[in-house]
Amino acid sequence: MEKLETYTYGRKIVVESDHKLLEIICKKVLLIAPKRLQGMLLQDEELQILSKVIKKGWPINKNAVDLKIQKYFQFREELTIQNGLIFKSDRVVVPNSARADLIEKAHSSHIGIQGCLRRARECLYWPNMNSDIENYIKTCETCNIFNMEQQKESLHSHELCTRPWEKIACDLFEFNQQDYLMTIDYYSDYFEIDRLNNKKGKEVIGILMKHFARYGLPDCVFSDNGPPFNSHEFRHFSNQYGLYRY
Ligand SMILES: [Zn+2]
Repeated sequence: MEKLETYTYGRKIVVESDHKLLEIICKKVLLIAPKRLQGMLLQDEELQILSKVIKKGWPINKNAVDLKIQKYFQFREELTIQNGLIFKSDRVVVPNSARADLIEKAHSSHIGIQGCLRRARECLYWPNMNSDIENYIKTCETCNIFNMEQQKESLHSHELCTRPWEKIACDLFEFNQQDYLMTIDYYSDYFEIDRLNNKKGKEVIGILMKHFARYGLPDCVFSDNGPPFNSHEFRHFSNQYGLYRY
């Protein structure tokens, strides 16, 4: 409002705003506890300084900002305070003491570095979050073993899922001289069957994209790694969406 004062001052205007940020974030994959985070924020020296500056307004010159929070200066316009928490756009700025715990949560189903990063980026932020997550997962034996064995065709025991559409499996089958794709959700056993025009990667990807648009992105996709799942297109597709393939 301050920024647009020239246009708004003295006029009747309609303000449309989204006050549901916290609600949206709470519904997201990571079950962050806002109350707990609010408490942690009050310990956290760096975020206390940051929150004061956000409330007071940023100085024009970066050098006039406390050294501890200079790293936030470049995206200062994105920072807001809502319900006692600091947000960078729609991501919560996580206090130091909560970071390790949230990395663990993002990594709960051993989805590998990419999957974890994708999950965390949906709703969390802190400086160096990416490298913190990468370093944490590099030390995880399970993720590393799966990474190495990803190419091999081997049986993996499936850990219990925590949400629908977290892990899905795909397989092709033939019925009455027609090819079909079956996609099944590990959490609910819900399945989708789609008739295929051909067995190429592009066709299968097109169908999966429609499912993803309806149910969200899974973390893992299981298949027999035969065609078309071993195709270049499918590999590219998985990488693009951070799907962990088995
Ligand atoms: Zn792991």
